[in-house]
Amino acid sequence: MTWYTQPRQLADRLSLSEAQIRQMEEITPQFPMRIPEYYLGLIDPADPEDPIRKMSVPAPFEADRGGSFDTSGEQYNTKIPGLQHKYSQTAMVLTTNRCAMYCRHCFRKRLVGTTDEEIAQNFDRIIGYIRDHQEITNVLLSGGDAFLNSLETIENYLKALTEIDHLRYIRFGTRTPVTWPECIGAPLLELLARYGQKKAIYVVTQFNHPRELTAQSREAVAALRRAGTTVRNQTVLLRGINDDPVVLGELLMGLTAIGCLPYYIFQCRPVTGVKSGFQVPLGRGLDIVEGAKARISGMDKGAKFCMSHPAGKLEILGHMGDGELLFKFHEAKDPANYGRMFRRVPPGDGCWLPEDLGLPPL
Ligand code: SF4
Repeated sequence: MTWYTQPRQLADRLSLSEAQIRQMEEITPQFPMRIPEYYLGLIDPADPEDPIRKMSVPAPFEADRGGSFDTSGEQYNTKIPGLQHKYSQTAMVLTTNRCAMYCRHCFRKRLVGTTDEEIAQNFDRIIGYIRDHQEITNVLLSGGDAFLNSLETIENYLKALTEIDHLRYIRFGTRTPVTWPECIGAPLLELLARYGQKKAIYVVTQFNHPRELTAQSREAVAALRRAGTTVRNQTVLLRGINDDPVVLGELLMGLTAIGCLPYYIFQCRPVTGVKSGFQVPLGRGLDIVEGAKARISGMDKGAKFCMSHPAGKLEILGHMGDGELLFKFHEAKDPANYGRMFRRVPPGDGCWLPEDLGLPPL
């Protein structure tokens, strides 16, 4: 297995000039590059606008310092290093800072492939917190990529979590079915099948473009399903990649066809190094999502168009005229806000809402 971690390794494959390599080498010390051979092979080297390339190969806009490194208030939800508890029913563990591929649009760009300061260090304390909080019904093992942990670490989590009575199910956040399908091998599948007998296991992945639906990625999803897990997909709406109703519709249909049910379409966050390259204004995003949904059947359009805001997961529901959009709390940090709707004109570039939503108390 070959990993591409240095821009110079891509010179011949992608016909890069010396200037392009140098530009990339200025970015990678802060935002590392890691591309598996399989995913690199999906790039059309003749197309500089190739969507697979944009998601994996460092680009000059990443040097733009606009935006923020923590757009959804993760620092305020961290209860123990590596454990976040924002919504009462869900705990999230940052199990690793490693990924099979460092996506150029990653919202945890502040930590993937670099610092492990925010990563779970004290396993017993984290499990103890989850055990002590009866309101937690499910745990999301995230990162980085949860399947980049050793099998021993994955088993330690599964063993401990499946023994906690108040947990109903366990989720793994991983892009390996998309970027490194060879990772989904027999030993991992055996673990998932065995512990899946005790609690339901969900695998949440992130396909963003129909070209990622290859024979290998389909087989990875099929293998996970045969092992008894339920596989679901969160897509990020990305400029130049899937900001087209035809492309997005094809992706959603393709995902349903392989039993990887579309679950969220996320507004790309205003993350430093991401914002200026990938964000789409919210109103346009809504048109793209609705345009895609108009082309597909009810089974394919279960995904909600949401943004992960510090106040909660806000669903973007519709246009109200004069640039106003209608939002609804799908998840709420303050439980009083569940189901609440409000209207706003997204300010500035129209891609996000301010941290203070200015909502009066209910
Ligand atoms: S796999 Fe997920 S966590 Fe890792 S770089 Fe990609 S988006 Fe970020």
